Amino acid sequence: MIEALPPGSTIGILGGGQLGRMLILAASRLGFKCHVYTDVPGPACDVAAAWTIGAYDDQAKVEEFTRTVDVVTYEFENVPVATAEAAQRIKPVRPGPKSLEVSQDRLTEKRFVSELGIPIAPFASVQSVGDLESAIDNIGLPAILKTRRLGYDGKGQVRIENRDEVASAFESIGRTPAVLEGFVRFDCEVSVIAVRSGAGETRCYDVPTNGHKDGILRRSTVPSGLPAAHLARARQIAETIAGALGHVGVLSVEMFHVPDSDSEPLIVNEMAPRVHNTGHWTIDACPVSQFENHIRAIAGWPLGTSERHSDAQMDNLIGAEVEPWRELAAQEGLCVHIYGKGEARPGRKMGHITRIGPKSNLR
Ligand code: AMP
Repeated sequence: MIEALPPGSTIGILGGGQLGRMLILAASRLGFKCHVYTDVPGPACDVAAAWTIGAYDDQAKVEEFTRTVDVVTYEFENVPVATAEAAQRIKPVRPGPKSLEVSQDRLTEKRFVSELGIPIAPFASVQSVGDLESAIDNIGLPAILKTRRLGYDGKGQVRIENRDEVASAFESIGRTPAVLEGFVRFDCEVSVIAVRSGAGETRCYDVPTNGHKDGILRRSTVPSGLPAAHLARARQIAETIAGALGHVGVLSVEMFHVPDSDSEPLIVNEMAPRVHNTGHWTIDACPVSQFENHIRAIAGWPLGTSERHSDAQMDNLIGAEVEPWRELAAQEGLCVHIYGKGEARPGRKMGHITRIGPKSNLR
């Protein structure tokens, strides 16, 4: 059990992006103040009660920041584990450093998930071109080579179709430690947004289907229309991982849905120890969003419902797609979220829109 933080307490957030911004908006509704720690000013700073600029590996500065807050959380998974551990010696860090450690390294993550008996694509550790050759002998082609660390939105990965691409593939990811992964022939991608309390209660939102382009999420849709047994299995997988991590807060697990496989319809792709882009629709389609439930969990409050009142389709506004904001704002019933970032560079997530409609009987 965690002692509940009263309204008026201050939540410290490591990371200054749009996820932090939406966490702060939810936290402020519950009467909390937020202090952001970030290496560059970002969209979270605009809505925070206070913000500190510092490097994530500047432990002395992070410790100074930690003394000003009541609990520390994070909105991205590349916070150094040593930084989270230093903060934890002063104030609670939720989710704990273990969730960070497991999810910031693809190899550690895959080992962790497979040791829980949860299906994932075949994988092998790659440190050299020689390793890559032998990994292909075992896994076959096509396959995907991914950097172990710092990959996001499809960055740091390359698909290999033929043997003659091996050297150039390893070159293209910067010859850094990597994982080779078997190619999964999925019919759709889904994700589970789970929230776990300090008392070990886990709740999951309805499972959206997710469409990506160039490795970047374009659209999430609920209901997915997938068979109920598959959705139940997806939720069970996320709950098992959250429990094994002793996670407190939101945990997001992305999965591939494999057609015609009732025995194991889902294969885990990756997870994030935080709120997730595929859960943004919960702001408009649920009484309690993923952001509010994360704040509730880390503040020791009772979890809110994870039910939704509406069907929803969320589309990201990427780069110049934010420019017709006038037209978007004029569409009745369209929920518009703009992150207040400066320049609409290609590939940059500038905002999102959610279209909600009456709830159907599908899950
Ligand atoms: P990731 O950064 O791991 O989420 O990968 C980005 C996207 O690449 C995923 O959303 C999938 O569309 C695709 N992808 C990644 N890994 C695989 C795989 N093993 N098999 C097939 N497609 C994949």
